[in-house]
Amino acid sequence: MIDLMQKIVSFTKRRGFIFPSSEIYGGFGSCYDFGSLGVEMKNNIKRAWWDEMIKKHDDIVGLDSSILMSPKVWEASGHLTAGFADELVECKKCHHRFRKDFLKKGKCPDCGGELTKARKFNLMMKTFVGPVENEAAVTYLRAETCQGIYLNFKNVLQSMRKKIPFGIAQIGKAFRNEINPRNFVYRTREFEQMEMQWFCQPKEAPKIFNYWKKERINWYLNLGIKKSNLRAREVSKDELAHYAKRAVDIEYKFPFGWKEIEGIHNRGDWDLSNHSKHSGEDLKYEGYFPHIIETSVGVDRSLFAFLCDAYTEIRGGRTKTTKAAKEVEILLNLNKSLAPIKVAVLPLVKNKPKLVKKAKDVYQMLKPQFRCQYDEVSSIGRRYRRQDEIGTIFTLTVDFESLEQNDLTIRDRDTMEQERVKIEDLIKILKKKLNEQ
Ligand code: ATP
Repeated sequence: MIDLMQKIVSFTKRRGFIFPSSEIYGGFGSCYDFGSLGVEMKNNIKRAWWDEMIKKHDDIVGLDSSILMSPKVWEASGHLTAGFADELVECKKCHHRFRKDFLKKGKCPDCGGELTKARKFNLMMKTFVGPVENEAAVTYLRAETCQGIYLNFKNVLQSMRKKIPFGIAQIGKAFRNEINPRNFVYRTREFEQMEMQWFCQPKEAPKIFNYWKKERINWYLNLGIKKSNLRAREVSKDELAHYAKRAVDIEYKFPFGWKEIEGIHNRGDWDLSNHSKHSGEDLKYEGYFPHIIETSVGVDRSLFAFLCDAYTEIRGGRTKTTKAAKEVEILLNLNKSLAPIKVAVLPLVKNKPKLVKKAKDVYQMLKPQFRCQYDEVSSIGRRYRRQDEIGTIFTLTVDFESLEQNDLTIRDRDTMEQERVKIEDLIKILKKKLNEQ
């Protein structure tokens, strides 16, 4: 399984999904850059989530709050006190540091050395605002996006003329000085979150919690995650965060085991009542503090789960027609809406100017409508393989018949079946196939 992990890391680099940050300087503290295909896929995930929240639900509106906020926010939220500190132990021999709750044995997992006693380590990333770097100028990069939502609860309620219950959705960067960033983009120090906070009457909260649990699981299944790789885990009372009344983790079966990709939390009135107390602003609604049900998912973490789920190796390849030695063929069967490239256009051969021109004309016609690639380099079989590897949904081939008939073939990534269609009908057909009509 670890082998699979290494394969995915090298695959994502080779095909332009994910690069290590600051690579020419030897990398930097578990930060990653998303390549040209990675950024498309990331945008697709964010769009799918945003549409799910804003288009599918009547009562959810969006927000984009700032990353830097008054440090008082983090006092009120509990992040600067024990609430947002992990227990850290250090190996006396190799000096590597670990989260205590991650250790199975009382020894260093790297060298077997003896460990120090645990001490609290705060995960907030500190910075300074303004020209003077003194205590008064200290603030923090946000560790979660939801605080900006609580601070704007009244602004949104009033400006959007909302009534309880309603939700606010936000996508944005968050930062945590993780002690043990590991497992590629699973745990990093800079990441992106998609969070929705649902404000409701206290008595409605348990029912709404169950509603969102079901909705969020279905979101992954509808986007193609295999049922056998997904589960919901009830978080036990002693594991619950200080603010939570109930929590369910949606977990994915990564190559390194079952791990959380999303948290669903019943936060009670913790957030609004604490911000009221600390700011002096009355954040009550009709005389009570609304309770909050939160759904919180990492963009990078879910992208990683979608990639792991779609990555398939086929020994000997899927076709017997190409002579090229094919030890292992890769197929990335991503869902249509998540695949970075939807359509590729290929001339059958590249040394026939008429074919090349026609294929390029088709490419130019499709480019404003779909994420598209044009490829004329190497044999047609190889080019199909290259597209299958990055999950391209349809590959179009312009052949000799196309010159006579003004048509081409559409090849389906998953079935490899080919269908001839007229070029004038192409946009309509592709939109229909991609559910974009
Ligand atoms: P963990 O126990 O894995 O540290 P958490 O329970 O602290 O996670 P939450 O605070 O509930 O995580 O954050 C919600 C979501 O944000 C997580 O489910 C995950 O998808 C994402 N997330 C949190 N921390 C990180 C990180 N360091 N790197 C990438 N994604 C993260």
